Amino acid sequence: MIMLVSKPKLMLGNEAIAYGALASGVAIAAGYPGTPSTEIIETLMRFRDVYTEWSSNEKVAFETGFGAAMMGARALVTMKHVGMNVASDSLMSSSYTGVSGALVIVSAGDPGMWSSQSEQDIRHYGLMGMIPVLEPFNPQSAHDLTVEAFNLSSSVGHPVIISTNTRISHVRSQVNVLPKQPPIYGKFQKDPGKYSLVPEIAKRDREEQLNRWEKIKSLTSHLVESHGDGEVAILGVGISYSYVREALRTLNIDQVKIVGTSCSVPLPYTIIDELIGVEKVLVIEELDPVVENQLKALLIDNGLHIRVEGKNLTGYAGEMTFERVHRSISKFLGVTIEEEESPINLTEVPRRPPAMCPGCPHRSSFFFLKKGLTLGGIQSTFYSGDIGCYSLGVLPPFNEQDSLVSMGSSLGIANGVYRSTHVIPVAIIGDSTFFHTGLPALANAVYNKLPVLIVVLDNRSTAMTGQQGSPSLVIDIADAAKGIGVKYVEIGDPFDPSFAKTVSKAVEWVKKNQSPALIVAKRACALEVIDKVKPTQVAFVDPNKCTGCTICYDYFTCPAILKRDDKKAIISQQDCIGCGACVPVCPFNAIRLEGDKPEGWDQAWTS
Ligand code: SF4
Ligand code: SF4
Repeated sequence: MIMLVSKPKLMLGNEAIAYGALASGVAIAAGYPGTPSTEIIETLMRFRDVYTEWSSNEKVAFETGFGAAMMGARALVTMKHVGMNVASDSLMSSSYTGVSGALVIVSAGDPGMWSSQSEQDIRHYGLMGMIPVLEPFNPQSAHDLTVEAFNLSSSVGHPVIISTNTRISHVRSQVNVLPKQPPIYGKFQKDPGKYSLVPEIAKRDREEQLNRWEKIKSLTSHLVESHGDGEVAILGVGISYSYVREALRTLNIDQVKIVGTSCSVPLPYTIIDELIGVEKVLVIEELDPVVENQLKALLIDNGLHIRVEGKNLTGYAGEMTFERVHRSISKFLGVTIEEEESPINLTEVPRRPPAMCPGCPHRSSFFFLKKGLTLGGIQSTFYSGDIGCYSLGVLPPFNEQDSLVSMGSSLGIANGVYRSTHVIPVAIIGDSTFFHTGLPALANAVYNKLPVLIVVLDNRSTAMTGQQGSPSLVIDIADAAKGIGVKYVEIGDPFDPSFAKTVSKAVEWVKKNQSPALIVAKRACALEVIDKVKPTQVAFVDPNKCTGCTICYDYFTCPAILKRDDKKAIISQQDCIGCGACVPVCPFNAIRLEGDKPEGWDQAWTS
């Protein structure tokens, strides 16, 4: 039996999940960084007796956990919701084979798409793969459900998914933390009759999967709770359950039964018992009608005639906010509810468009890339972009991301663009993304002789999610590209104006040889540099030399460079980090750096 320890601790939902894993004896934890999931692995990294890693992508992270669970270990795998697409091939197989230890996958969703390309509902993976999906209400329930997930996984020998979201993962609240247990590592064991999915074994594993699914239905049947009574009911799922309880408290409405569940797949069959005597029920859940549809099927199977409403009142897209729940309940109950005015007038909050940081090497890469293409005789091209902080190149003045669809997609999309138009495209990809899913597409470009200029923006980290490491720290991208067979590989410094010449020469080579050429634009993330070395230089504009040509503030756009009323430039000494990138950008030599270069400055940018 597990006992409560000490006083509640204030923590993020993601930390609560990590502590839940520790209380379950997690031994292996692997993930790929992605908002809003990242802090789970970062928390576990503080515990030396747990093996943790940032894997090169979500599929590798999943397979790491899966392999460990084959050996009987307790494993945790984390990713953001779109990472499930990458991991899904092996995820689906794991549901056939089952596991010998415990395997828990945390997928953190981003309804409303604060930092993602889609808000897909990952609970469909649970339905498709017969994998239970647990959904916490708040950080405490995230902690408790993680323990529940490990217990369920180890007792049935089946993977279990925890589906969290931005509000659960990134909200802070008091959590009663269960004590850490010694990590349960596996022991070497082989069972090819279970894990080698050749057709004969897969057919038998399929039967066993169906048997385990029945056990899972039974073991998750207690994940339902209810309050109050009445002929109408509101069923809240995951975080929506918290909003439903809060909304009904503020509405002061009696005679409504509130039902909540933290298991959305499979929907606990015991929910039927809670709905006996109810005439109509409103299902409130984020994104798709996953629970609503299961509930309708359960009611039909049980011969119950209860009206079910849900997405027709709540809508599909975006976060399920308190205000949205409030409005849906008022429509459902047919009551008029005065909405309280928000104490914050959001229209008065100044808008802050996204921008690359002062000193960001991507800005210089985009600036000189366009120049280099022009020098190389390319006036118009298709910039096939990718996912990373360089995605900001989609914005003016650069406009150098014509597509940006999923991790590692830049080269595959570029292939399609070239095959259908014969316009030589430019594929732009970051170092972490290159190793994530760029390599297979690079092999394809070499194999199928794709005339493309590939620019790998190597800032030595997975910067967008908080400067986690990247394989580029130990694997040289230029060597990797040459090893795959790229014949033309160059390394360039984006702060050096000769980068434009590097680009133009590469483009000329592509045109002549009708094959891929690759440039590694190598400079560290500015945030990491100033973390290591305190800047002591700043840039100044000499007003006597500045002609007000607008290049530095309108076309280079470092946020530290401002426009004066007379159109001349001025540099904010507070925002400038003294990187010097703007110095060669000015055609009139009006910008200079002042101050002594701090020790280790150059090395921090290039190592
Ligand atoms: S690029 Fe040089 S001349 Fe042009 S506005 Fe900036 S500082 Fe002035
Ligand atoms: S030196 Fe120039 S580019 Fe670098 S931060 Fe300062 S103003 Fe921006």
